[in-house]
Amino acid sequence: MPEHPRSKDSSEWVPFGSHSVPADTKSQLVSAVFDSVADRYDLMNDVMSGGIHRIWKRRLIDELAVRPPMRLLDIAGGTGDLALRARKRFAAHKTEITVCDINVKMLGVGRRRARDQGHLHGINWLCADGEALPLPDRYFDSCTLAFGLRNMTHIERALEEICRVMQPGGRFLCLEFTPDIAPPLRGLYEAYSLRIIPKIGDWLTGDAEAYRYLVESIRRFPQATHVARLLGKAGFAGVRVNALSAGVASLHSAWRV
Ligand code: SAM
Repeated sequence: MPEHPRSKDSSEWVPFGSHSVPADTKSQLVSAVFDSVADRYDLMNDVMSGGIHRIWKRRLIDELAVRPPMRLLDIAGGTGDLALRARKRFAAHKTEITVCDINVKMLGVGRRRARDQGHLHGINWLCADGEALPLPDRYFDSCTLAFGLRNMTHIERALEEICRVMQPGGRFLCLEFTPDIAPPLRGLYEAYSLRIIPKIGDWLTGDAEAYRYLVESIRRFPQATHVARLLGKAGFAGVRVNALSAGVASLHSAWRV
């Protein structure tokens, strides 16, 4: 984890892990987390979720497949895990995929991974902030966001940007961990996430603190029903929420009006 960056304007504070930080320093802190874990990020996802994240991502792609996208934007796409799954699933369609992430190192891992899997074309890699996308209005007909929303400084701004770059009638799918786990599992889940995940993170990436941040950021993320309301405010309609694995994660789906 980095030295605490200096704030130029500390009038607005936002959550970062278990504490709050000046809004203008959060993205630098988040970047440092992903710089530190990028090389082992995918392995860590498999180990700490026991592979379950693959089932959730498959579910998201299944929903997209109902109307295969022509132009797909994957925001906070990191190492391209979702994009590569979409690329394989929609191989028979003419799908143009753009992976956008603020972190160069995560994108670099993704680019190498795509090349190693033989996907030299068909995926654009864009390093940009999801809250200020350098992309035209109404361009994409589908947009996905997996485990990225809670890392944004201003969730509302990110959702408005996604809405802006989507065509009316376009589909948005958002996968995120939820803090509201059903009681029978809650104790077990808390013990696992607070005690075990940072230890696995330390073992595999050498950075327990990064995984402590990830766990705490889930605990402070809004409830799925609140995220659904924010989607409506940002300009989406027909918002549906599906709880996955007893509410450990949720999949929001919505249409751009
Ligand atoms: N979507 C990928 C997946 O499911 O494996 C990666 C998720 S990872 C937990 C979160 C990603 O969000 C990181 O790659 C991070 O760099 C990215 N991120 C954080 N803040 C961002 C922002 N403001 N704009 C774009 N990407 C951001």
